[in-house]
Amino acid sequence: MTFQELELIEPISKALQEEGYTTPTPIQQQAIPLILKKNDLLGCAQTGTGKTAAFAIPILQILTETPVPRGEKSRIRCLIMTPTRELAIQIGESFSAYGRHTKIRHTVIFGGVGQKPQTDALSRGVDVLVATPGRLLDLINQGFIKLNQLELFVLDEADRMLDMGFVHDVKKVLKLLPKKRQSLFFSATMPPAIVTLADSILSNPSKVEV
Ligand code: AMP
Repeated sequence: MTFQELELIEPISKALQEEGYTTPTPIQQQAIPLILKKNDLLGCAQTGTGKTAAFAIPILQILTETPVPRGEKSRIRCLIMTPTRELAIQIGESFSAYGRHTKIRHTVIFGGVGQKPQTDALSRGVDVLVATPGRLLDLINQGFIKLNQLELFVLDEADRMLDMGFVHDVKKVLKLLPKKRQSLFFSATMPPAIVTLADSILSNPSKVEV
């Protein structure tokens, strides 16, 4: 299979060519068409499988194809929660790379650094927010982040999120999300606690495993 067969829009296929990507990885081949169909997704995949592009590419495409109507206020349309600062930065770099010819704006927030550059970026307006749980809740509580118009939610590395003790933070964020949304859930392992968490987030999900 080639990226052409995935029927990606030109700004994205151009960026992938520039990245030197020719063939989608197995998780990308399976997940991209399902996400583009607006399905919820349960993905069992480790880092290194091309998992980030498997969600970043279709998210960029969906957001580009359904722009916010003219005159409407800019808002966060997609939230990606990930357990560590390193992962958050990597996901941000993926959106920079694959989205460089789109108009989709993203920013990355995480703890352990000053919040001013992050809140400045948020007030300029972003479509996609990549966040670790603690700083996300912090900025929500201070009123810098509203998630009431969210269209897409991604929980990345859910098993690590649980191992690191973030389950309560994730549940607090879930309560703030619109019920009607598309949700994507990725985990390297699927122990019972993860299955329960996935059930509470996803609605009739497609499942992919690599
Ligand atoms: P990930 O599993 O998301 O951490 O991605 C692992 C690495 O594979 C990253 O460095 C990506 O840039 C790279 N990558 C992802 N998809 C492709 C692809 N289809 N072709 C070549 N490299 C890729």
